[in-house]
Amino acid sequence: MAAQENAFESALAVFPETVRTELKEVLDEGPVIPAERAASWIDHMSTSVGQLMIWLLPVAASYARVPISNYHVGAVAQGMPRGNSLAHLYLGSNVEFSGQALSFTVHGEQCATNNAWLHGETGLQALAINAAPCGYCRQFLYELTTAKSLNILLKANTNPNDYSYTTNPLTYFLPQAFGPSDLGLTGGLMESESHGLTISSGSNVAQTALQGANASYAPYTKDYAGVALQQNNQTIYVGRYAENAAYNPSMSPLESALALMNMFIPPQAPLNITAAALVEAQADISQKSATEATLASIAPGVTLEHVVAS
Ligand SMILES: [Zn+2]
Repeated sequence: MAAQENAFESALAVFPETVRTELKEVLDEGPVIPAERAASWIDHMSTSVGQLMIWLLPVAASYARVPISNYHVGAVAQGMPRGNSLAHLYLGSNVEFSGQALSFTVHGEQCATNNAWLHGETGLQALAINAAPCGYCRQFLYELTTAKSLNILLKANTNPNDYSYTTNPLTYFLPQAFGPSDLGLTGGLMESESHGLTISSGSNVAQTALQGANASYAPYTKDYAGVALQQNNQTIYVGRYAENAAYNPSMSPLESALALMNMFIPPQAPLNITAAALVEAQADISQKSATEATLASIAPGVTLEHVVAS
C-alpha cells in the first residue's frame, strides 16, 4: 500500500507547483479534469493537450488495484469538444480481483472509458495509455460511437522526463475489425440511452442501480443492467453494463461501478462496501451469478440485492 501512495505522490511531483496543487484539489473531487482546468494547465506548462494526457498517465496508474499482476496501467480519455474546442479528461486504471477468474479483470482503457461514459460523455476523441492497448481493449474500444475517429496516444519512449508521444487511430491497431455494424447495429457504446425500466420494490441502493440499468448498453441481449455499490460513508457508486459485439470484452455492471469507485477513493484505500444491488431487465442472460461471485471477492459478507425490472 505504501508503495502505491508513494507512486501517487511521485507522479504528482513532476508537475509545476501551481498545477500540482490544483491537480490534487481536482482529484480530491473525483477522476475528472474539467476542460477549463486542463486548458489553464496546458497554458501554464506551455504544452499540448496530448502531452498533458501523457503527463497524467503515472497519476492514473497509481490508482491501479492489481494484487495479481502488480502491473499498473494508467489511461486518460479525452471527451468530446465543448466550448472553445476544449474537452474534459478522465482518468482510469486497471483493477484485478483476488480469488476470481482473470476474466473479471477491468483494463485501464475500459476504466477510463467507463469513467467518461458515466460522466455523460457520448464519445471519446482520444485515449492515452502507458502501454500499447491489448487485443481485448482494442475490441472493447471498437464498440464506441467514435471508434472510427478515436486516436490512441502512446508515449514515444521510456524516458520518464520525455513526454513526446505517437498518435494513431484505433483502426490502425485493429484492422479488418469486427464490430457493431457486423451485427446490424448503427449506434455504439456511449450513445445516450434511456430504457424506461421501472422496479416496484427495492432499497435506495436498488433505486440507484436502476438508473445504471436505464442508461446501460446491451443492444445484443437487452439485458439492461446496473449495479450500485454503497460505501460505509453512505456514498453510492453506480455502474452500467457495457456489452460488446464480440461478447467477451463486455464490461459487467459491477466492474463498471467498482472501476468508478476505485478512481474516486484515494489510491489503494479500502473499498468498505456495505451494500450492493443489481437491477436488470428480464433477458436470456443474467448478471446475477457473476456479480455475486465478484462481490464475494471484494466484499465478503455483503449480500447482493437482485431486482428484475420491467
Ligand atoms: Zn487491455
